[in-house]
Amino acid sequence: MQDFPTTARAIVIGGGIIGCSTAYHLAKLGWTDTVLLERSKLTSGTTFHAAGLVGQLRTSANITQLLGYSVDLYNRLEAETGVASGWKMNGGLRLACNADRWTEVRRQATTAHSFGLEMHLLTPKEAQALWPLMNIDDLVGAAFLPTDGQANPSDITQSLAKGARMAGVRIHEDTPVTRICVDGATGRITGVHTPRGFIECDVVVCCAGQWTRAIAATVGVNVPLVSVEHQYLITEPIPGVTSNLPTLRDPDRLTYWKEEVGGLVMGGYEPNPVPWAVKGIPEGHSFQLLNSNFDHFEQFMGQAISRVPAMETAGIKQLLNGPESFTPDGNFILGEAPEQRGFFVGAGFNAFGIASGGGAGMALAEWVANGEPPFDLWPVDIRRFGRVHQSTGWVRNRTLEAYGKHYTIAWPAEEYRSGRPIRRSPLYHLLKAQGACFGEKLGWERPNWFADAAAGEVPQDRYSFERPNWWAAVAREHQACRNAAVLIDQTSFAKFRVCGSDVGFALNQICANNVDRPFGSLSYTQMLNRKGGIECDLTVVRLSRDEYYIVTGTGFATHDFNWIARNIAPHTDARIVDVTSGTAVLSLMGPKARVILSRLTEDDLTNTAFPFGAARWISVAHCPVLALRVTYVGELGWELHMPTDVAVTVYEALMAAGADQGLVNAGYRAIETLRLEKGFRAWGADIGPDHTPLEAGLGGFVKFASGIEFTGRDALLAQREAGVKKLLAGFTVDDPAVVLLGRETIYRNGKRVGWLSSGGFGHTLGVPIGYGYVRHPDGVTAEYVMAGRYELEVASVRVPAQAHLTPLYDPKMERVKA
Ligand SMILES: Cc1cc2nc3c(=O)[nH]c(=O)nc-3n(C[C@H](O)[C@H](O)[C@H](O)COP(=O)(O)OP(=O)(O)OC[C@H]3O[C@@H](n4cnc5c(N)ncnc54)[C@H](O)[C@@H]3O)c2cc1C
Repeated sequence: MQDFPTTARAIVIGGGIIGCSTAYHLAKLGWTDTVLLERSKLTSGTTFHAAGLVGQLRTSANITQLLGYSVDLYNRLEAETGVASGWKMNGGLRLACNADRWTEVRRQATTAHSFGLEMHLLTPKEAQALWPLMNIDDLVGAAFLPTDGQANPSDITQSLAKGARMAGVRIHEDTPVTRICVDGATGRITGVHTPRGFIECDVVVCCAGQWTRAIAATVGVNVPLVSVEHQYLITEPIPGVTSNLPTLRDPDRLTYWKEEVGGLVMGGYEPNPVPWAVKGIPEGHSFQLLNSNFDHFEQFMGQAISRVPAMETAGIKQLLNGPESFTPDGNFILGEAPEQRGFFVGAGFNAFGIASGGGAGMALAEWVANGEPPFDLWPVDIRRFGRVHQSTGWVRNRTLEAYGKHYTIAWPAEEYRSGRPIRRSPLYHLLKAQGACFGEKLGWERPNWFADAAAGEVPQDRYSFERPNWWAAVAREHQACRNAAVLIDQTSFAKFRVCGSDVGFALNQICANNVDRPFGSLSYTQMLNRKGGIECDLTVVRLSRDEYYIVTGTGFATHDFNWIARNIAPHTDARIVDVTSGTAVLSLMGPKARVILSRLTEDDLTNTAFPFGAARWISVAHCPVLALRVTYVGELGWELHMPTDVAVTVYEALMAAGADQGLVNAGYRAIETLRLEKGFRAWGADIGPDHTPLEAGLGGFVKFASGIEFTGRDALLAQREAGVKKLLAGFTVDDPAVVLLGRETIYRNGKRVGWLSSGGFGHTLGVPIGYGYVRHPDGVTAEYVMAGRYELEVASVRVPAQAHLTPLYDPKMERVKA
């Protein structure tokens, strides 16, 4: 029996696959003084009853890479530890039974090619050759990923635990963490209590599966996950089922399959999932399954038999029902909690924890050891959530919707329906009455587009892989912005005030651009990590000597607030406050913006008095408004920031003043088409922690010449010296019917050099537009980019494209109407 430790460098809570993988990787990084505490026995939570399919393809390159790491690790783990993992790389098949699904699968194959993952499109007959038991009458096509596979979840976890122990990790079973201690004065974690004693530590990594939400809440950390029942059927051996049978996903029939001891495992994602443990997880839940729910599973049986007729007569060994933690967006949750330093989370694996286990453990361990993730992990970053996710009821509703969509077609621009509305601008009802079709981000209702009732349009999205039903409306709003003016409710922008006597100095240390400017000026800037990667992309306004106002994207509220708060140098007087809810934003954009605004204000709006890049408090319709002369659409205009209580007054006055100038409402989908034409970058797509300003063509916003120190400067200087290995370029396609959505593969002179980070259509230019990095390990220059002959792979078909390094749209250019 091991001595019970009294100190550790890190405590990992939970001995499922994620805890064991994280401990294994921490030890490999030299954190050998790591202790893993498991309440019961290893694997006794959700891990022991997983089906064990390991698929890799996701919509993000980095998450796909992370899952690819799992496969690499599982390939070598048994040899390293001597513990069999049940891993076999038997490949994965995906079926398509209708035209839209086939388009989705072809686009997925293109995404896979973009990310360097092998994925082959097959005819129904070719698919059947790999899976002879399957009926292919309804099949349009299929795809095969040869490096997917399956593992035995318990064995692979034990193998990781063995590897962790071999590297020095101490694992204690039957040892629940009963309390996490935080020092009230410093806010630092000091240790954890268990029935066997206290262990001092300053890092806790919570990998407690569905228990994580409750444990994290004890230290004020919000982890939005809930338990949902998930079932699969295990059959007796079936003649013709061979051990090399690939895993199979049949999304149109909502089911997945794998071979198990000569029989089949068949599970599915029902549209009406059953939540579990609504009142909390019962005490002592360990190695326990839930009662088989045959009635609920019945909905899959007809589907399954038509796909695999042998199921009709196959003997049933077990209908396994197990709870798993799911999240509101179907992605897992990783990283250091914004609410508590030293508290890391790896949980909410949405029934792909075995597939993610190796990679997620690696990434989380690196995050712990280095204070930052190994690469951009935004899709799974714990900071993507916000206050709306504190309500467990809300989280459950949204999570059940996300679960039900697991196998439905993932339409471009698809919105969730549940848990809405929550956060609304004061203009919500006014906009709704005028035909607004809303989307949702971080709980905010945001107008996406406006339906023209007179033209018979209905404000409801009808999704498509071709041109969706909002196409004409967005084109109209786009043209209005280019030719007259639009008003866009952007109240959901995240807004912060940063105040204090050192604020100019403090912000200048973390901003790449110079923000220590005269009062009333605004700066577009990035905030960088030590590697020069772009952590935040924002507008910073100097209001006075001691006060700044910062504006960033709706979805980045938690992330950017946390980044700024944590990176302001200690002992400087600069405090950040979130003022999002108290401030409404109306963006008045278009060549007529000045004419319209000047009708409602006595303030001077001329270029001399109010130049681009200035911020002024002005009166609009007698209301106080902080006007920012800035644009994300490439036209003359102002973002008007105001107290929420005057938003309706200002909105009504502007609409009345602009009526004869062609002013109309516009929404977020028009913003997207407008910004694509102008080449403005979007964080989370075109730019992020993996991209530096030099690679993103934003070097002009870096204060190199000033000599002022700022985070990331050394890395940027070194990169400037050495040259970049990738460069963001714009791409256009001549054929207006081509639909670019992002992730399309970029070919330069016939060779794959990257993929589109965003894609869409420019309604002024009348062409599809995309952005993406052109990469080359020996370096990339502007000349290199422009000298290439390009093609884009779109849904598995290559189309010719032109590269651009300057904005595609210039307000003075001759316009081509779409
Ligand atoms: C029916 C079903 C089928 C699935 N099929 C697949 C599949 O085919 N492929 C795939 O990739 N994934 C699949 N999954 C998902 C997979 O099982 C999970 O994502 C994965 O096991 C989650 O691992 P974990 O380590 O996060 O959680 P868990 O395995 O639940 O581990 C968490 C551990 O934390 C411990 N713990 C809790 N509280 C404390 C405390 N206070 N102190 C100490 N320890 C504590 C628990 O006892 C538990 O052992 C499936 C899941 C289900 C339910």
